[in-house]
Amino acid sequence: PNRIALLTSGGDAPGMNAAIRATTLYALHHGIEVIGFKHGYNGLIHNEWMALDEPVVREIIGSGGTILKSARCEEFKSPAGMQQAADNLKALDIDALVVIGGDGSFIGLTKFKQFYPGQTIGIPGTIDNDIDGTDHTIGFATAVDTAVNAIDKIRDTADAFERIFLVEVMGRKSGFLALNVGIACAAEHIITFENFSNPGIELQHIASKIHRIKKSRGQCSYLIVSAENLYPGGANQLASDLADYASIECIPCVLGYIQRGGDPVAKDRILATHMGAFAVKQLLAGHTDVMIGIDGQHCLQVPLASSTKHYKEVNASLLAIQEDLQDLL
Ligand code: ADP
Repeated sequence: PNRIALLTSGGDAPGMNAAIRATTLYALHHGIEVIGFKHGYNGLIHNEWMALDEPVVREIIGSGGTILKSARCEEFKSPAGMQQAADNLKALDIDALVVIGGDGSFIGLTKFKQFYPGQTIGIPGTIDNDIDGTDHTIGFATAVDTAVNAIDKIRDTADAFERIFLVEVMGRKSGFLALNVGIACAAEHIITFENFSNPGIELQHIASKIHRIKKSRGQCSYLIVSAENLYPGGANQLASDLADYASIECIPCVLGYIQRGGDPVAKDRILATHMGAFAVKQLLAGHTDVMIGIDGQHCLQVPLASSTKHYKEVNASLLAIQEDLQDLL
């Protein structure tokens, strides 16, 4: 390729800038020109872009958010929108499009193949880690740390007042954040997609554990970490149901958007650098319609469509360890 385009789409994730930097620098290293479209797929349709060169990306490896801005774009879901986007890429002589985003962005990119004949590559950037074909997504490690730091503070209050706190973390339809954050915070109870059967059973389960622990230890702090989009009505409803069902008073706390922001931790910067450079290598090798993943130490490519087909489950052995340990709590 002589000229490639980058964009960031969907939910922003810490490390997207590091991926922009690595892809840009590695492309420039190989004599490839790079432009960046702004506001996700909106930039493609409305021809809003900027040239990416070394000075532009020089100081962005450590900053959260994305210099290209991110957005959702309904227009891109229509054939007319996709055609307009493809026409703009053609007019700018763009040989390849690299999209840094989540599963929705990749579904869009897969469909875009029908309109755009150039190479397409996806780099997984989402705090949810819910993309199949890669151990980790860019932003996940930072989001785990952010949530853990916040919950450590909540734990101080829970300890001081010997109260029960119920903290809801993000993750969309995936339990990676809940499980990993819960483990790192020594949560007494973790509710994730893989161990949730129905609201009634969950209530019973929590209530019997809390009654048991109160008997053995007396009043003490107790921390429940739950995935979002799981218990109907979320953390607030669960707290109110616990009060009604078992006279258990607990304080619901929805962590929310702080989990998406912040400077990327080193692990995400390194992952983004590895994936960005590897994406350019794949373009040079002539590959298209693929997503970059990481498997242990190594980057790999998987068919783009396969990354969004299957539900990626959390690590079963980690979940089993957590459940074994929970018996002691
Ligand atoms: P994420 O990439 O973080 O999962 P979204 O699910 O919001 O975020 O998707 C981001 C964007 O990808 C959407 O706003 C839209 O432009 C595009 N997209 C998502 N699904 C489709 C689809 N079925 N067809 C075309 N484009 C899509």
